[in-house]
Amino acid sequence: KVNPRYTSQTCFNCQHIAKENRQTQAKFECVKCGYKANADINAAKNILSAGHAVLSAEGGRSQGRPLKQKTCDGREKVA
Ligand SMILES: [Zn+2]
Repeated sequence: KVNPRYTSQTCFNCQHIAKENRQTQAKFECVKCGYKANADINAAKNILSAGHAVLSAEGGRSQGRPLKQKTCDGREKVA
């Protein structure tokens, strides 16, 4: 579900996207903030944070449904 596009060119530290960030296949260095990392590790961190954003969005949605059902059950018992 995570779009891997630009994750190898995006700075994990400041989110700056530039192909100049990716100096070589293995080395990542942000031209904006100077963040340095292994290119694969930087990309993996970007994919991980994007995945967490997707999961938390889905978790928030599915948590809303059972809460509504409990409210309905409670109302029936009171009435
Ligand atoms: Zn940066």
